[in-house]
Amino acid sequence: MKALLPPRIDLLSDTLTRPTPEMRAAMSAAEVGDDVFGEDPTVNRLEEHISAMLGKEAALFMPSGTMSNLIGLLVHCGKGDEYICEAGCHIFNNEQAGYAQVGGIAVRPIPGERGLIRVDQLQEMVRPDNDHLPRTRLICLEQTHNRAAGSILPYDSVAEVCTWAKEQDLARHLDGARLFNAVVASGISAADWARHFDTVSVCFSKGLGAPVGSALCGPKDLVKRARRYRKMLGGGMRQIGILAAAVLYALEHHIDRLAEDHAKAQVLADAIRRAPGLTLQCDQVDSNIVIFEVDAELGTAKEYCDSLLERGVRLYPISRQKVRAVTHLDVSMAECEEVAEVLSS
Ligand SMILES: *Cc1c(COP(=O)(O)O)cnc(C)c1O
Repeated sequence: MKALLPPRIDLLSDTLTRPTPEMRAAMSAAEVGDDVFGEDPTVNRLEEHISAMLGKEAALFMPSGTMSNLIGLLVHCGKGDEYICEAGCHIFNNEQAGYAQVGGIAVRPIPGERGLIRVDQLQEMVRPDNDHLPRTRLICLEQTHNRAAGSILPYDSVAEVCTWAKEQDLARHLDGARLFNAVVASGISAADWARHFDTVSVCFSKGLGAPVGSALCGPKDLVKRARRYRKMLGGGMRQIGILAAAVLYALEHHIDRLAEDHAKAQVLADAIRRAPGLTLQCDQVDSNIVIFEVDAELGTAKEYCDSLLERGVRLYPISRQKVRAVTHLDVSMAECEEVAEVLSS
């Protein structure tokens, strides 16, 4: 195998971002305590801050979005309960079916369009009360939708699905790993998006640029139960004020700038539209994720990405012919313009 230099321009994922010097300074100055005893002042400040931003009663700092989602499901569903989700969502595909492994929870995935499921698709999916059947308890949505190329589920559609679900007595959980990308792109506040859901998970380690962390936000009683589950799963952490400080810094300084990541994604999308042999998965690009298909004539996605790597650019082959590029804090507009040049040549 030929040894390759590390990529100069890395669009693999927005999780690659490294803490900036200013973020590190905030981490270094953080006041800390033992958070398992609820005594880390910086974590407490973060939990108050993020719950207020989302208009929820309470929040719990989590080590990862995966744990936030898992516990989000555990607080709504017991063994033999079922949740409904869009078939391409992260919880269903990319979290090891933790809900089944840990919670004995079943899933009913529904194929959507650009990450969106409609009420008319859902109508037949809620199971009647019958000894033969699992109990339908919960609906999960994802915003922005990762596999649907960072698409933003339209506000009215989210409201419609959630209002309908509430009428059916179903709980609602949002995997808002990139909710702030949707906030910046839509101009709709996080609280306005979150109001349609009982619980919302958000990630701080994606476009917001914190090194680690997520939060599960919701009503006090559910967050109290979530805290027990977090301890059970080994997610009780001690002097994590140093991490919470990074997140507080990110919430203050790195939300508005997500618009720059979206502008960079548009530059890539324009290049892909012009490039022979490349086709956007969906012509509309809503946020910081671009997915495109590589014509078989150019080889497989993996071969295409290997050839880009030789030019110092890393993209992610997500399937046989599909490639993903994610823009973020650590890749500049000039670098994205350079990638655009490479893609369209
Ligand atoms: C990244 C991601 C998560 C959770 O990620 P962690 O890596 O566990 O923090 C959940 N949902 C979506 C849509 C994601 O992109």
